[in-house]
Amino acid sequence: MQPTTYSGILIDSNNGNQRESGEIKINPNGITFTCESQKVEFSFHLLQITHGGNNRELIFFAHPNKEGLTFYTSQKAILNEPVFHEDPELKAQITVVKSSRRKIIIGTSVAFGIVIAIIVSLFLLKDTFVEALAHKAPKEWEAKIGDKLFESLKYQYEFIHNDSLEQEFLVAAKPLIDQVRKEGTKVEFYFIKDATINAFALPGGKVVIQTGLIDHAKSWEEVLGVVGHELAHVTRRHHLRGVINNLGLYVIVSSLIGDVNSAAGAVINTGGDLASLSNDRAFETEADETGMNYLIASYIDPKGMISFFKTLKKESGSKMDDYTSFMSTHPATSDRIKHLNELLKNRKYDIRPVKGDFKAFKKHINQLK
Ligand SMILES: [Zn+2]
Repeated sequence: MQPTTYSGILIDSNNGNQRESGEIKINPNGITFTCESQKVEFSFHLLQITHGGNNRELIFFAHPNKEGLTFYTSQKAILNEPVFHEDPELKAQITVVKSSRRKIIIGTSVAFGIVIAIIVSLFLLKDTFVEALAHKAPKEWEAKIGDKLFESLKYQYEFIHNDSLEQEFLVAAKPLIDQVRKEGTKVEFYFIKDATINAFALPGGKVVIQTGLIDHAKSWEEVLGVVGHELAHVTRRHHLRGVINNLGLYVIVSSLIGDVNSAAGAVINTGGDLASLSNDRAFETEADETGMNYLIASYIDPKGMISFFKTLKKESGSKMDDYTSFMSTHPATSDRIKHLNELLKNRKYDIRPVKGDFKAFKKHINQLK
């Protein structure tokens, strides 16, 4: 039978560790390595079979009688040569080589599995990390950024400054404002002349209401429904969380472990993004749910929130499209209305009338436009 040949490399340490490629053959009396410059023959007696290489993927052959010469192959089939298994000494060496190769393979795949599991769980836990990091960040940061953004709004919009109008609003919204104050958030309200059906919150607690929103609302409950939603964006720190979300996982996790300053730098660099809440559905749902809880805790009919979304939905199909920017960030989809209705379905709540005459307020704001 023609002996099988394997390709291999000879290391000649007598000759400055020179390497040369050649052929390995198994003969009845021993194993030979043949290359251009020499032929090396190891007898089976005292033959040493070991493994090596980064992943122990290589099989090495050496012999005490041929000091300084070693050859190896990456073809592990060589271990199955019948002649090796006839000799108990060689068979024992091969068992060691094979079992440690198995361990390496298992070890590598376990390590690989762990790495994958860590990566997957990091991504799954990202929201939790983001929340934890946002929680670490002082509220003053957001207020500072919010103030800056507010300054820039002064050039874009015409504000309505009227003490009695503001008072009327604050009286109506007081129970709601008290809810967020309990959570340590101070809020301020501003009115701007703009036909857009819109209200938005800036990071930190400034809430801006556009006259278009008041025009299209039918009751205080509808206005306060939107306000409750906007306040929830503030208290749940959605601006900050949105920005942190856009940072790499590495920055998020390392700043959770270490100090917050590295993330602070990144947040400040992208501070402009805080201006607009990205239309993140998870944040929107959270703002709807939290806002609704604020309304219920304030004894304000939470159905106002739903009926306002219904109005928005109707408006979205009409010529009012240009004026419905609240809708572009807050799509009044059927799903959303359905979800809000479901939230209320099994809840018991008391409602009290909102203080103040909404029609009078509406008239008042119209006079100031
Ligand atoms: Zn929103």
